[in-house]
Amino acid sequence: MTAMGSLRVSAERETCVTSSLCVYRLPQVFDQDEEGRVVVLDDRPPDTLRDELRRARRGCPTRSIQVEGLPSEEGDTTP
Ligand code: SF4
Repeated sequence: MTAMGSLRVSAERETCVTSSLCVYRLPQVFDQDEEGRVVVLDDRPPDTLRDELRRARRGCPTRSIQVEGLPSEEGDTTP
């Protein structure tokens, strides 16, 4: 049995401005549809991607990425 991570990823397509930043950073988790809006490919990614997910969440210009299982963005100092 594969160990399932505790993270849950979702993204707001309505507020996505198709910047592609999350897709460049985590192509195994995020993709874009034909309009360029974010699509979550893997909503339960492994815990090994925690830091990258934090960076992707913080890097989204419209705060369209939510990650359950990570500390809130307030005070996030991940480099
Ligand atoms: S970083 Fe944010 S705005 Fe850019 S594609 Fe991803 S969800 Fe959309």
